[in-house]
Amino acid sequence: MNKFSFNVAATLREPAELVAYGLASVADLPDLEKVAARYAVAVTPDLAALIDPDDPNDPIARQFIPSAAELAGAPGESADPIGDDAHSPVSGIVHRYPDRVLFKLVHVCAVYCRFCFRREMVGPGKASALSEGAYDNALAYIRAHPAIWEVILTGGDPLMLSPRRLAEIMADLAGIDHVRIIRIHTRVPVAEPARVSSEMIAALKVAGATTWVALHANHARELTGAARAACAGMIDAGIPMVSQSVLLRGVNDNIEALEALMRSLVECRIKPYYLHHGDLAPGTSHLRTTLAQGQQLMRSLRGRISGLCQPDYVLDIPGGHGKSPVGSNYLSPEDTYSEADSFSGEREPSAETRYRVVDYCGDVHLYPPKP
Ligand code: SF4
Repeated sequence: MNKFSFNVAATLREPAELVAYGLASVADLPDLEKVAARYAVAVTPDLAALIDPDDPNDPIARQFIPSAAELAGAPGESADPIGDDAHSPVSGIVHRYPDRVLFKLVHVCAVYCRFCFRREMVGPGKASALSEGAYDNALAYIRAHPAIWEVILTGGDPLMLSPRRLAEIMADLAGIDHVRIIRIHTRVPVAEPARVSSEMIAALKVAGATTWVALHANHARELTGAARAACAGMIDAGIPMVSQSVLLRGVNDNIEALEALMRSLVECRIKPYYLHHGDLAPGTSHLRTTLAQGQQLMRSLRGRISGLCQPDYVLDIPGGHGKSPVGSNYLSPEDTYSEADSFSGEREPSAETRYRVVDYCGDVHLYPPKP
């Protein structure tokens, strides 16, 4: 259902179209043309329908409508903020951890997120899809490395491929004995749910490997009836789903928005997996929070909602050093004590550390308690 007063017939790709639909102002057009010359723009009809053009702080618009703020760089920003290139042994593959690889098949998406960490690589006019030869080389690399247990299809959005091509790729990967898990990272179920057809769902299931789908969603409003139906179609077909979200200033950096998002995901049978700290992608500082804000939000989240709804708050360390959990630490050493005072067994008493542990209300306790 379109809550607002306009319907968009096709994906909007030009700043002038955004102005024509009231999603950007005429005064901003020259700057938006400069942004669009550097970073791809696409807003699907499904997502355009969620934007309230009268709300200057609309959390859906902030994610997809370009802004002049993207023309400003900030210290530390980089075209390859998570260091994919440093771990790419062959074209299309990123091999950062021993047991898994990223397999980047396509460089296009249904929508282009303004905070995307691969914004210098995705979109029309950026790198092209893998050639047949490069695809064969990537498969040969996976085949030659028996430690690779999981292949993560990403890009770009793998669900931009046709069901026929996706089925071929799934069969190629499942045909490699040591590949047991194929994980697909996608924004299509929220950006263009109609693409998740029965043919697409059939293509995702393959004998010989287990498919997982990771949905990228950042605000509860993205989980429309159509998006929920698309996810339910995959889950009902036996494909488990997890989520990944990005903590974004003005989108979900308040406890109410974050709580609503995580609850909605679990209600859709999607386990919240990652809450990413915003990467140092060029021109995205206006969308990043601080780590301290992220930690505070994670503490609040733990106090308010079920453990089932808790994502891991993670930071991709610049330079390609991988992800680390950066949520709150609930445990800190208090003192060292000896069992000798209260111990009467036959073995030697040992020295142990006593900890301060914080509960969900923020109150501090000692573990073990003092006698
Ligand atoms: S869908 Fe993913 S890869 Fe595509 S622009 Fe958004 S964040 Fe980037």
